[in-house]
Amino acid sequence: MDDKPVFVTQPFLPELSEFLPYLESIWESKVLTNGGKMHQQLEAELCEYLGVEHISLFNNGTIALLTALQALRITGEVITTPYSFVATAHSLLWNGIKPVFVDIDPVTLNIDPAKIESAITPQTTAIMPVHCYGHPCDVESIQKIADNYNLKVIYDAAHAFAVKDIGGSILRHGDLSVLSFHATKVFNTFEGGAIVCPDAKTKQRIEHLKNFGFVDEVTVVAPGINGKMSEINAAFGLLQLKYIDKILKLREDVDSLYRHLLSGIKGVRVVEESGQSQANFSYFPVLIEKDFPLTRDELYEKLKTINVFARRYFFPLISEFPMYRGLPSAAKSNLMVAESVSQRVLCLPIYPSLRTEVVEKIVSFIRSESMR
Ligand SMILES: *Cc1c(COP(=O)(O)O)cnc(C)c1O
Repeated sequence: MDDKPVFVTQPFLPELSEFLPYLESIWESKVLTNGGKMHQQLEAELCEYLGVEHISLFNNGTIALLTALQALRITGEVITTPYSFVATAHSLLWNGIKPVFVDIDPVTLNIDPAKIESAITPQTTAIMPVHCYGHPCDVESIQKIADNYNLKVIYDAAHAFAVKDIGGSILRHGDLSVLSFHATKVFNTFEGGAIVCPDAKTKQRIEHLKNFGFVDEVTVVAPGINGKMSEINAAFGLLQLKYIDKILKLREDVDSLYRHLLSGIKGVRVVEESGQSQANFSYFPVLIEKDFPLTRDELYEKLKTINVFARRYFFPLISEFPMYRGLPSAAKSNLMVAESVSQRVLCLPIYPSLRTEVVEKIVSFIRSESMR
């Protein structure tokens, strides 16, 4: 058990033989991309599974974020969180938009709505929150502010596949939601992503933008990009979707086991779930508090000695990277909660095939370190 490295995530792969019929169908059709049969079918099945009206598939989540901002013609300044994967802010910078960082809530670790209003300026055009770890943002407070100030809301929902609140899919909130289907995510197409939008007209614009702006052979209506998902990626999505309920159940089992075993260990705080009626167990973040004998980084390094590779999501904060740290909103004093959480957080391995004995081994190791 000690010899095999355990990483924070591992993709769910069905038997290779199950993928072959999909490949045969692609070979047969000779359509490799540009909205072929697999692509159309995956869009339809995802709408059904997620419970949303319109979805547009992409070659990855980052291009989907870039396109979402273009689709709504966002300019000027956008309010966002520093506690995320760097692509969130990069999508703003690539669009010539200035990110304005706002601190996070200490419980949900999502953008703190109470701090948004004071960050709004005449240049602000939108808010880009992240459903961090798949835990829903305070969508109502965010929408209220957006309505008051006439701002768009684009959710980076890269972690939030299949997450629901009491009203249904978390992806129905805001003007657009963006998913990632990267290999490390709960649902994957090797590389991939999508934009969820509320109406056919917006979907049409997104479709134009993701295909160079083409409407027909001779008409280009926008400076589009190539954001198309290929047939092979869409086919893998169709296969993955057959297993998604099983994937979520296996993740839930790992999550429950961790929560059970970790309870009562001094100095280890499990980040609580809240606000969802269906969670996706995409990450298992814990906070290593002051009363734990080791620092977060010491524990992170020590876990490597037993071949366990936890990850410090999210450290460093986006606001600490060189292209952001000069911004006034990147000042540590503006982001005290995010700064503190980013020093303490550790994401433990969680994935469908993670065995009970491995979870037990990880937790006993943490327990023994807590008693030194
Ligand atoms: C994974 C991720 C992205 C980027 O998605 P890709 O498909 O890898 O381009 C964006 N935002 C967040 C929060 C992510 O976790």
